Amino acid sequence: MPSTGLNDAMGLPTEYVVLRERARGLARACEPFAVEADRLSTLHAETRAALAASGLAALTVPASHGGEREKVDPLAVCVVREVLMETSAHLDETFAMQGIGSYAISSNGSSEQQDEWLPRVASLEAIAALALTEPDTGSDLRNITTTIASDGDGLLLNGQKAFISNANAADLFTVMAREDDGYTLVLVPAEADGVVVKPLAELIAPHVIADVDFDTVRLPASSRVGEPKKGFEAVLSTLAVFRASVAGAAVGLANAALEEAVRHANSREQFGRPLARLGAVEQMLAESWTELEMARLLTYRAAMLARDNPPRQTLVHSSMAKLAATEIAGRIVDRSVQIMGRFGLIRDSKVERLYRAARPMRIYEGASEVLRGSISKALSESVSGGPGA
Ligand SMILES: Cc1cc2nc3c(=O)[nH]c(=O)nc-3n(C[C@H](O)[C@H](O)[C@H](O)COP(=O)(O)OP(=O)(O)OC[C@H]3O[C@@H](n4cnc5c(N)ncnc54)[C@H](O)[C@@H]3O)c2cc1C
Repeated sequence: MPSTGLNDAMGLPTEYVVLRERARGLARACEPFAVEADRLSTLHAETRAALAASGLAALTVPASHGGEREKVDPLAVCVVREVLMETSAHLDETFAMQGIGSYAISSNGSSEQQDEWLPRVASLEAIAALALTEPDTGSDLRNITTTIASDGDGLLLNGQKAFISNANAADLFTVMAREDDGYTLVLVPAEADGVVVKPLAELIAPHVIADVDFDTVRLPASSRVGEPKKGFEAVLSTLAVFRASVAGAAVGLANAALEEAVRHANSREQFGRPLARLGAVEQMLAESWTELEMARLLTYRAAMLARDNPPRQTLVHSSMAKLAATEIAGRIVDRSVQIMGRFGLIRDSKVERLYRAARPMRIYEGASEVLRGSISKALSESVSGGPGA
């Protein structure tokens, strides 16, 4: 695929090119069972074992605690997700969730929390989850009703979380809860009394996901992650790093879909010509490649900004990359199915799996409309301080 050459021409530093090759090795190892893994809504044992053997999950925690780089490097996570998503959404999410579920611990947790959990997250001995969403609260996160309160020497957690990736496989949850007039993150071991995982209906693209109740969960006071009532800021930092990586996964998905479409369009003839030489198909292919390169450039730039600055300051760029790359991936995979005609509709074919996997990406970690709202607000504030200022 020509994009490989362009990737390198884009000046991705050698260390990331080397990392991409490592990720390709893992993707090749997982290819034989990718269809099987992508059908599952429970953790696929061979995928988990292959990821653990690759050592790549060490990118999701800092070197001080079993990680590979001094800090979690958003560009490294992004490059790896791009490659893994091309092969298996299950593989990509297993890798990514280790970081999403533990990033607040890496950046804000106590040294005891970091010592206990992060090396196990890096080795995949412990599976991580981040619990924000609730039955009645999705995008409007400030509306959560889960509470954390002092209880003698400890803390008491009560509430329900919904649609939590890895909930049915997790060893630890980072949970956002209301504490008085603020929001606090707490680390909850899955084995704590009162943690009740409840299965969820099957999604269009199966995902390791479940609802989870925290029913009068008693925790030590040391379970807060970071300071009381500073949880929202920590979540925004997590999003700044990992929204850019969703964009990376979307770029990988789009790249894989386009490759499928190009191969098909080159090899199938209609009206005496390869599909790739029919005007309308040419237009779709050209549009897709151009959009793919736009998405990749914006994604790498957002990931570099999140790497080189306090991530919270670069959230708007991660949001832009996530918005652009997931919307573009949606368009590219849709065009790819169109180019492949009836062959694009076959259940569990590569392009059909990509088509289904693309859809949730425009909803989770910030729905596109919500991202447009926050990007627009940031723009407005960046010019003359905003409306009425
Ligand atoms: C596969 C998957 C994995 C997930 N994993 C996790 C996880 O690990 N942890 C977790 O906490 N959550 C997780 N979620 C939940 C996810 O974060 C929410 O689905 C997401 O935040 C959107 O919330 P919602 O689905 O309740 O939609 P709602 O908030 O009800 O929004 C529905 C739609 O309304 C529109 N809308 C909403 N607000 C606005 C606005 N302000 N402006 C304009 N339009 C708006 C948008 O079109 C949006 O798509 C996951 C979801 C999925 C699908």
